[in-house]
Amino acid sequence: MNKYLKQLIELSEIDKSIDGFGPRVESIKKALNVALEKDNGIKKEIESFEDEIKEAKLKRSKNELHLAELSEKLKELTKKAAIVKTAREAKALQLEEEIAKEQSDFANEEIERLGKFIDSRDLIIEEAKEKLEASSKEVEEIRADIADELAAIEKEKEEVYNHKQNLVSKIDQKILTFYEKIKKWAGNTTVVPVRKQACYGCFMRINDKVYSAVIKEEDIVTCPHCGRILYKEKQQENEE
Ligand SMILES: [Zn+2]
Repeated sequence: MNKYLKQLIELSEIDKSIDGFGPRVESIKKALNVALEKDNGIKKEIESFEDEIKEAKLKRSKNELHLAELSEKLKELTKKAAIVKTAREAKALQLEEEIAKEQSDFANEEIERLGKFIDSRDLIIEEAKEKLEASSKEVEEIRADIADELAAIEKEKEEVYNHKQNLVSKIDQKILTFYEKIKKWAGNTTVVPVRKQACYGCFMRINDKVYSAVIKEEDIVTCPHCGRILYKEKQQENEE
């Protein structure tokens, strides 16, 4: 095989794996982001339950205050009833007492209702905190996994870059420029195999003359349709 062609096939393989690093890192971080989103969701849920409890406690203390005021009022009404002079006055006092008692009942009911609500929210928060513990643990586990995977990718990247540098230093400058020029528009498909006598970059059939040149591997051959560099895949030799 042409020495330059061999180098370019190798270089294109290296460039392909370099391009693959970005998406690989992204996909690894995706798992962490999903776990973090879940974790934050539970945290927000807990916060909103805690806000509801705070609000309920405020309402409860207002009712307790009101209840204390009503109790004072009832005591006063009892005192007044002892020194009442006319039946009309007595009736007015009685009406006032009834209203105060009704309001006390209502305040008591509210206090009880709010208490039950707070208890139920406490229970839900407890459950949510258990969920949070599990999800935070998951986040940490993924972080640890990612640290290993990212470090492995980083190491791999370094090796690939060193490999590329080493290879590029050996490639003829003209050949390299030729490759880079095609790569600008062809990207990962600068060097493509020929399969079933078709260019695997543009998928057009190549004529017999070009095809035989590709098979000979004596020169660098480009696709007459798209201009990509062509090569004959080794494993295809037995099939065709
Ligand atoms: Zn082509």
